[in-house]
Amino acid sequence: MTDKLYGGIEGGGTKFNCIVGNGPDNIVAEARFPTTTPAETLGQVCDFFAPYMSQIQGIGLGSFGPFDVDPSSPTYGYITTTPKPHWGNTHILGMLHEKLRVPIVADMDVVVAGLGEAKWGASKNNSHSLYLTIGTGIGGGYIVDGRPLRGLTSLEMGHIRIPHDRELDSFQGACPYHGDCFEGLAAGPSVEARLGQRGETLPDDHPFWDVEAGYISSALVNYILSLAPQKIVIGGGVMQKDFMFPTVRKKVQELLNNYINNEILLNKIDEYIVPPGLGGRSGMLGAIALIMDSGE
Ligand SMILES: [Zn+2]
Repeated sequence: MTDKLYGGIEGGGTKFNCIVGNGPDNIVAEARFPTTTPAETLGQVCDFFAPYMSQIQGIGLGSFGPFDVDPSSPTYGYITTTPKPHWGNTHILGMLHEKLRVPIVADMDVVVAGLGEAKWGASKNNSHSLYLTIGTGIGGGYIVDGRPLRGLTSLEMGHIRIPHDRELDSFQGACPYHGDCFEGLAAGPSVEARLGQRGETLPDDHPFWDVEAGYISSALVNYILSLAPQKIVIGGGVMQKDFMFPTVRKKVQELLNNYINNEILLNKIDEYIVPPGLGGRSGMLGAIALIMDSGE
């Protein structure tokens, strides 16, 4: 265990979570600030880190998006076209670097949470793991040997196409780009748009939950067949319902229909599709993992 300290920032659309430490067993300080304007929120973030800056080696940032993570792009480190007031075209990485003057490495929030789970959490013993969040939006990060998989662009796992039975669910979908993609059918806002109430207030025995679990299972089967993760970790509000994990696991097995002859998928699916091991700290600790393992 290193004695060096690092800073972690999980920049979300409603709050910024900040942490100082070098792992889940050594957290020196922690705070959260509401996401208001870039000047105000990032000012509070920098004030929080100030007393520790003589010890901090570098800072990791996981940001809400759309966030440009391509180092060769002229808008690298910018939040780009967000509809969130005040935050469009914001050079968040530059603003932080100007004040904090240490190496700062950044990636998308969901990717960073996946890094945290892969280093210290539910997928720490797996070289290939998938982290998925299902809440206000849906996103995923695929972590291979401690690094996020990226090709032409980052992965956009929330926007894949999944089967949509319009007799079972006549809702047209809420994604402004695709209508009934996975996020358009299954993220929090689509539940509210379809049923007129938020998922949190929907009774556990409401028939929609079975439809929702079906969408999640369809997406997971596509990821299993194309990426073969060794572990699937799912965070976000929708999976907080106790019955969702067992229901999703059962439906995944039904859809796979014993096609893949693998002991974990056939008999140990309870250990395969799991909640985060770091609880609400996956993103913050993942930001520390990002900078610790960046080589900066
Ligand atoms: Zn979409």
